[in-house]
Amino acid sequence: QREEERRACYQPAIMTDGARVEVVANIAAPEEAARAVEAGGEGVGLLRTEFLFLGRDQAPTEEEQTDAYTTMVEALNGLPIIIRTLDIGGDKSVPYLSMPVEENPFLGERGIRLCLNRPELFRTQLRAIFRASGKGPIRIMFPMISTLKELKRAKALTEEVRQEVGADPVEIGIMIEVPSAVMMAEELAAEADFFSVGSNDLTQYCLAIDRMHPMLSRQADGLHPAVLRMIDQTVKAAEKAGKWVGVCGGIAGDPRGVVILTGLGVKELSVSIPSIAAVKAQIRGLSMEQARDLAKRALACPSAAAVRRLR
Ligand code: PEP
Ligand code: MG
Repeated sequence: QREEERRACYQPAIMTDGARVEVVANIAAPEEAARAVEAGGEGVGLLRTEFLFLGRDQAPTEEEQTDAYTTMVEALNGLPIIIRTLDIGGDKSVPYLSMPVEENPFLGERGIRLCLNRPELFRTQLRAIFRASGKGPIRIMFPMISTLKELKRAKALTEEVRQEVGADPVEIGIMIEVPSAVMMAEELAAEADFFSVGSNDLTQYCLAIDRMHPMLSRQADGLHPAVLRMIDQTVKAAEKAGKWVGVCGGIAGDPRGVVILTGLGVKELSVSIPSIAAVKAQIRGLSMEQARDLAKRALACPSAAAVRRLR
């Protein structure tokens, strides 16, 4: 019985009526790629590349980055990896980048904004990603996209670098974690190959609650109907354009989140390594009809607490 349970984590997560949900891992260190596969992950849905840049006194070189990405791609042995470009700023500061002191860092030069303002930093990372891309299926994802213009500029720079390196094209997606990106999702979907909802930041920006706030952050529940309605809108916009949506924030690994997100039409859940087996098992016990029913009722709830009380 134990052995059977252990092996079940390597089977796909197929709902009782046949729909499949991809369950992939959020990782933030090279050795975690192999651990994600051992835990039954069907790939990596979010590689937080910040780990390469934090806790040191100069930026990692192109060689260092290429080595790190290659190690992870090889450990995945053909499974896909979504590499998110540098998402620094906000709560994460890097001394050698001499970042400005800001009154509201979460509303400041963060994520893609910082990368677009420091093209050399961005180009080096992109070069390394493209150099590793021959070794397995890599997708690139930009964090903190808040305007169409940012996406177009980031894509143009990425295409330039790709041609310099002489690599094949890769899929390019974006994080949906800023309310403006939700409102512009139709336009963004025309330019992106996929979306991944960063529900941690989307909740922070939607409810205007600092995700690090010592007292308020407990109220920043990603299952708040305001956030769920944003995710619903995002999925509908993506579907119109024939693009898929994943979720890589904390609610993707929350038992109630799993049901609601699946019911909203999310195709990929990217969760922490220890959650993979449980999320897969939960999906296997669920029908799409049940999931859609819970999602519909959740969208109509007046509060996060009411969503959490749903049966
Ligand atoms: C998120 O914002 O939900 C997310 C997955 O990204 P991070 O937690 O790294 O900001
Ligand atoms: Mg985020």
